[in-house]
Amino acid sequence: MTTPNTARLAKRVKLADAHLITKMLDIADGLDDVIKLGRGDPDLDTPAHIIKAGQDALANGATHYTHPLGILPLREAIAANIKQYGGADYTPDEIMITPGGQQGMFIIALSLLNPGDEIIVPCPGYNPYQQAAELSDATIVKIPMGMETNFTLTAEMIAPHITDKSKILVLINPNNPTGTVTPPDEVRKIAALAAKHDLIVISDEIYARLVFGNHQALPVASLPGMRDRTITLSGFSKAYAMTGWRIGYLAGPRDLITPMSEINHAFAISTVAVSQHAALSAITGSQDCVEEMRQTYDARRKAIMQGLDSMGMSYAEPQGAFYVYADVSSLKLGITAGEFCERLLAEGRVMMYPGTIYGDHTDDFVRMSMTQPVDRIKVAMKRMADVVAKARKEQSQPAL
Ligand code: PLP
Repeated sequence: MTTPNTARLAKRVKLADAHLITKMLDIADGLDDVIKLGRGDPDLDTPAHIIKAGQDALANGATHYTHPLGILPLREAIAANIKQYGGADYTPDEIMITPGGQQGMFIIALSLLNPGDEIIVPCPGYNPYQQAAELSDATIVKIPMGMETNFTLTAEMIAPHITDKSKILVLINPNNPTGTVTPPDEVRKIAALAAKHDLIVISDEIYARLVFGNHQALPVASLPGMRDRTITLSGFSKAYAMTGWRIGYLAGPRDLITPMSEINHAFAISTVAVSQHAALSAITGSQDCVEEMRQTYDARRKAIMQGLDSMGMSYAEPQGAFYVYADVSSLKLGITAGEFCERLLAEGRVMMYPGTIYGDHTDDFVRMSMTQPVDRIKVAMKRMADVVAKARKEQSQPAL
């Protein structure tokens, strides 16, 4: 039997990270009553009217391939929706429906990146961008972010990393895993920098409807000179709790979207028809469900912040998405975030992920997803406080 070149595979798709999650899931499997704050998959159900639209579509024959870019009414509705929320003007052939925003990342990378091209990514940041770049043999340029900027990118941080090989700049706003929003003025500065250096911006706005307080995620493509150098990546998974439907989209200038549709076609022919009809109902129906979910996450966010405050654990101010990014080193337990996650799971039956999975250059931070109801979050915070208290007690005991 031929031995597969697993070293190459591991490098390509960062299997090491996958192993970390698998290890946690394996530990959790052997335990009862684990409170899972790990995956970014809402516990909330897809709103009933969207499910009904999917059921009706199936009954009415949405069981075939569609146009490779997606059904026209959905592309028209997305273009109108982008405009309504202050984004750029697009024609329907500048919108491409993809099987999840995630596939969009790989389509972009395989379409635009040649070996040796540089792609600038925020770290920590949603990791498939790096995996997609690796598959294209591009060079990943990581911009480390920290508490000093509440884990948001600034133009000043990016500028020294730009070279004549720089091609793409990824902006994830609000960001996963940090739950932070890049302030509009900073987005303007970053856009100006990208324009000055002729970079293509991938603007991931999948959490843009889920922001708290006065925070606002500015659509990059709406800024002067940016429409034709920006690909906006978004989808339905987060704002409409539709992760399992696997549907997202890219919006960008026709000369980029048209060739990308060839790759989308090669991957999937088209996005699942029934999901497209459900997404059409999501985007054209009442948006009250989005606001209800946003308020639900806001209440959960406050419960987590309260729990962390009482433990004396610092965290980045959560301003959007549904994550809290907290600093294990602030607890002064002398353990890494990875060790903390394992211990918390084994002893406290609470699951969260270390920031290293998202390319954090430190092993200090953990990501907590707000994917449990407030009462469960409160139990999770109590269990976490108990694990922390136990670790502190052990620490203060003299070594034998
Ligand atoms: N972008 C970000 C920042 C995400 O966090 C995710 C999923 O967690 C995605 C894109 C992809 O979402 P989906 O493929 O479900 O549309």
